[in-house]
Amino acid sequence: MLSEKTVAAISTPSGEGGIGVIRISGKDAIIIAEKVFKSASGSPLTTLSGYSAVFGYVYDKEELIDEAVATVFLEPKSYTGENVCEISCHGGRYVTSAVLRAVLSAGAEMAAPGEFTKRAFLNGKLDLIKAEGVMGLISAKSKEELRAQLSLKRGKVSEEIEKIEAALLELSADFAAYSDYPDEDLPELSQDNFSRLISLAEDGLYKLLISFDSGKILKEGVSVAIVGKPNVGKSTLMNMLSRENRSIVTNIAGTTRDVIENEVNFAGLNLILADTAGIRQTSDAVEGVGVELARERLNSAQLVLAVFDCSEELDNNDKEILSLLQKDNTIIVLNKTDKERRLTEDLFGGFNTVFISAKNSEGEEELKTAIRQITTADSIDPAAALLLSERQHDLVSKAYNAVKEAKNMLLGGFTIDAVEVCVEEALTVLYTLSGKRVTNEVADEVFRRFCVGK
Ligand code: GDP
Repeated sequence: MLSEKTVAAISTPSGEGGIGVIRISGKDAIIIAEKVFKSASGSPLTTLSGYSAVFGYVYDKEELIDEAVATVFLEPKSYTGENVCEISCHGGRYVTSAVLRAVLSAGAEMAAPGEFTKRAFLNGKLDLIKAEGVMGLISAKSKEELRAQLSLKRGKVSEEIEKIEAALLELSADFAAYSDYPDEDLPELSQDNFSRLISLAEDGLYKLLISFDSGKILKEGVSVAIVGKPNVGKSTLMNMLSRENRSIVTNIAGTTRDVIENEVNFAGLNLILADTAGIRQTSDAVEGVGVELARERLNSAQLVLAVFDCSEELDNNDKEILSLLQKDNTIIVLNKTDKERRLTEDLFGGFNTVFISAKNSEGEEELKTAIRQITTADSIDPAAALLLSERQHDLVSKAYNAVKEAKNMLLGGFTIDAVEVCVEEALTVLYTLSGKRVTNEVADEVFRRFCVGK
């Protein structure tokens, strides 16, 4: 189902760079490219075979714009499945726009956001789940998320969905064989087969459904609250984590007043950090605001790094903070190990504790290990089938409920027709997920979030 229109866009980010790529895709991509690009050797682009690259010159009518390399892909062997020409010119804002303008005036239309990938989907190059993986790859914020998105793009989830679809289809076919004899009891053997197939679908969907918890940790990152009384080294710890001096480090108690959010890459994860004013009951009104923010943050954070100065005995402030903490999401960070130690782990019975010197970046590996353990990142395999978007989660959840209902009906002795309705419902939902049967609106909703040029 090749589109009649040939579209073009700048596929590289706007700004100055070594190379800028203008991508043209559609039936007339090579003919249009030939109108603006003249190869140095004189051979026209239209005579080239797929996967060829040639050096040459880009013109807007008679005017030379740039020197460039044109790469030709012939349908169906291209990203979109259509004829594609990519002109790699110099990477400047003006030069790439000038080349694009020339291409548009030679007959191409401007591509919509995600249009190249949408065309790839429409031409059967990838399903909707893999397309979401493409988008995820581009926006990945950490090593682990990148691995997970790549697995999605390479079909890990699609394969699982296909197995589930196959089980439901087989079930549906078995039902059809019985639908001519609605009044007869089902033989024992087919009852067994029904249960086997439906459990296969149910288990597969359940596994995917719970994988979203892991997917979310990799995709959205982990919100982290750094708490502790003033001067224990929270800002310094934050700087150690981010390696950027984003928050103000000072030795005057209570000067880091606002919550400053900062996303950093640490322990292979995207950590969303908030440094706070320190948790301390205080009569200082301004600092009180910070205390409130810290308390709020403590409740909503997935991970709490509670900092104590290990060169000083615990005082009432420390003890009050300690009383607010929960063992399952907190790491006790005992800072300033470069000084004489006055605190030991057993003061924090049952808590996960790590000794560091934030100032000297010591204890970093131990902290990484503790973070990966407590966030369960350690047990997540990014190469496994993980759901990574709300759309995927929502549809898998719908399919799971429909399959569970079918199973209950089957056990409850309902007619095959009634069970069949639920199985069909599950299949329809899964076809929407993969895009096998999908409305334009659903597909547009997925591609709308892509950038132009992808
Ligand atoms: P916050 O109020 O908890 O954010 O504490 P800061 O990060 O502003 O640190 C308070 C003071 O402690 C500063 O003078 C830091 O240089 C110092 N500090 C932070 N971490 C360490 C450390 O590991 N060792 C030593 N000796 N001093 C530290």
